Amino acid sequence: MRVTMIGSGYVGLVSGACFADFGHDVTCVDKDQTKIDALKQGKIPIYEPGLEALVENNARAGRLTFTTDLKAGVADADAVFIAVGTPSRRGDGHADLSYVYAAAEEIAKSIDGFTVIVNKSTVPVGTGDEVARIIKEASPDAEFAVVSNPEFLREGAAIDDFKRPDRIVIGGDDARGMEVMREIYRPLYLNKSPIVEMSRRSAELTKYAGNAFLATKISFINEIADLCEKVGGDVQDVARGIGLDNRIGPKFLNAGPGYGGSCFPKDTLALLKTSQDYGAPQRIVEAVVSVNDNRKRAMGRKIIQAMDGDVRGKTVALLGLTFKPNTDDMRDSPAIAIVQTLQDAGANVKVYDPQGEEQARLVIQNVEYCTSPYQAIEGADALSIVTEWDEFRALDLRRVLTMLKEPVLVDLRNIYDRAQAEGLGYKYVGIGR
Ligand code: NAD
Repeated sequence: MRVTMIGSGYVGLVSGACFADFGHDVTCVDKDQTKIDALKQGKIPIYEPGLEALVENNARAGRLTFTTDLKAGVADADAVFIAVGTPSRRGDGHADLSYVYAAAEEIAKSIDGFTVIVNKSTVPVGTGDEVARIIKEASPDAEFAVVSNPEFLREGAAIDDFKRPDRIVIGGDDARGMEVMREIYRPLYLNKSPIVEMSRRSAELTKYAGNAFLATKISFINEIADLCEKVGGDVQDVARGIGLDNRIGPKFLNAGPGYGGSCFPKDTLALLKTSQDYGAPQRIVEAVVSVNDNRKRAMGRKIIQAMDGDVRGKTVALLGLTFKPNTDDMRDSPAIAIVQTLQDAGANVKVYDPQGEEQARLVIQNVEYCTSPYQAIEGADALSIVTEWDEFRALDLRRVLTMLKEPVLVDLRNIYDRAQAEGLGYKYVGIGR
């Protein structure tokens, strides 16, 4: 099959490289010339484990090419995937669909022969209808079907998620279009990943419902963690105790500083906007969003409290800035609000992140960026672990103790053992324990 990805970001590039790896002939298009130039030279513009080798192998085999020329990419494609960004629209939180619609218009001008237009971007219910309308209007004779195929991969584990997904959701009612989609995904079906077919609108909503449910699990356990702190429980034990119930499941029950990233914050917000427009309020999701919003600054205050309530002129070392490990994505990371809260209270902040510094510099300023955890810790009045990168899991706590001015360890990911830390002489503050 000839597959074209419009947008070569986290989703477009990973999907394109994986489709090529399954033997399809893939063209990745992006309007960002710098990105395409880099990709042509084998340089990957994002940090995603395993992606560089996958791109290199498939480019060398001639199955994966990169271009800024959308027209050339679309003309002989069997399927054109739209994988452009759908950020929150400034001002009202609706999904900003301008990139999707712009891509649809450009695609319309270049379609040649029956083509399936696949919406892989996360888009509100009804966007597929609008994409079909745009294409029909711009190119009345074009033969096409618009299909929804939301993506569920996680940054940091994107390749494995794409190749061995829990399920593949395909929404559409055009028989020819659905047949092309089955053919494209056949290699994954062989991997025992079920294909769930449904209407286009159901597929669009499935993506939002899925993300909203996962965000709900996170906000739920975070509030239980707050209660644990008041009543003297340990949220780790509670999470394990409930997670072993098959009806609940153990995943997404790690209490922490709140969810961030390029998906949950914007998708929960967009779902609320859709629900308001259609007069079907989602009160649970409203609470989830509000709990999470409050939590990020609360984590900054937690660090301040651990430092006896006064941080003016003091220095805090933060380890980890990205919203989770194994990505360089800083979008809506809790670290942004935590740094802000500390700075508002007069603290100096030293930071270290294994991969996120370049992106972090765009959103976090007036901090000292360090090149190792120990450089950040040296001379600080307190240490806080914000993101649980592997390299922070086994710090030499004895050495750290000699480098800190005060023995304060605020572990926002619960990766250290309280008894061990306290045994070494730390004032240990975790989450919900
Ligand atoms: P991204 O910002 O990393 O990439 C989008 C790319 O599209 C950019 O490189 C941009 O230059 C390009 N682009 C925009 N308009 C274009 C056009 N007209 N022609 C060619 N290229 C164009 O975004 P992303 O993280 O890959 O997300 C894409 C979509 O997938 C979003 O809707 C997102 O919600 C969804 N999604 C993301 C993830 C994730 O983990 N990042 C997971 C599942 C779903």
